[in-house]
Amino acid sequence: MEIIALASGSKGNSLYVQSGKTAVLLDAGLSAREIEHRMVEMGVSPSRLNGILVSHEHRDHIRGVGSLARRYNLTVYITERTYRAAERAVGILPKMACIDADTPFEIGEIWFCPFLTSHDAVEPLGFSMTNGRLKVGVATDLGVVTHLVREGMRGSHVAIVESNHDPEMLMEGPYPWDLKQRIKGRTGHLSNLNATDLIDAIYHSDLERVVLAHLSETNNTPEMAWRCLVERASNRFDTGQILIARPDRPVRIL
Ligand SMILES: [Zn+2]
Ligand SMILES: [Zn+2]
Repeated sequence: MEIIALASGSKGNSLYVQSGKTAVLLDAGLSAREIEHRMVEMGVSPSRLNGILVSHEHRDHIRGVGSLARRYNLTVYITERTYRAAERAVGILPKMACIDADTPFEIGEIWFCPFLTSHDAVEPLGFSMTNGRLKVGVATDLGVVTHLVREGMRGSHVAIVESNHDPEMLMEGPYPWDLKQRIKGRTGHLSNLNATDLIDAIYHSDLERVVLAHLSETNNTPEMAWRCLVERASNRFDTGQILIARPDRPVRIL
């Protein structure tokens, strides 16, 4: 499997996942141009893509979906409710496959298992994906870690987990009161400590790589997110096993 975090954070999210002949984007939240540019920079071709999977309708996850799908004639995998919420932003799609929030499906050689998350979107999803050998779990954009999320992520060899904010930085930072409440609420975003708890809960000896993702550029720093995890789990991971996804440049995960 090849996995690249093309972008991560409130300005845009996109994860490239490839196994054999199958290549998929999980979200496309930068402009189509920027996604193409970052893919080429990492040595993967947009024309190889089979489809785009959409986690939820927030702009930082769908900005490039419509243009990319039309340019490369891609199937967009999306729930019906999320499509209705995103319709105006994504425009007319060449091909669409409606997925269910609780039903696994396959795209080429990769199996996807969606799970519902607690986030302020109409039907937000996390995913695990597997090619039969390796399991990758993705849980970003969620306010709390539910039983469903833990079960969805369990057994992952690669865990990509939101580590959005440091609660103190958030509360003392420049955001207005209601936005602070939204972020730390049950349908907002996970703190560094929440991320560490989730990783702790799903830890097993074959968890090869942990990726901290969707970091706030205002209420967090990569060093703080990293330190929060390392302080709890330093005996479990070599430093090379912990990666931080970036807003400004692609990061190769596998
Ligand atoms: Zn987001
Ligand atoms: Zn979101």
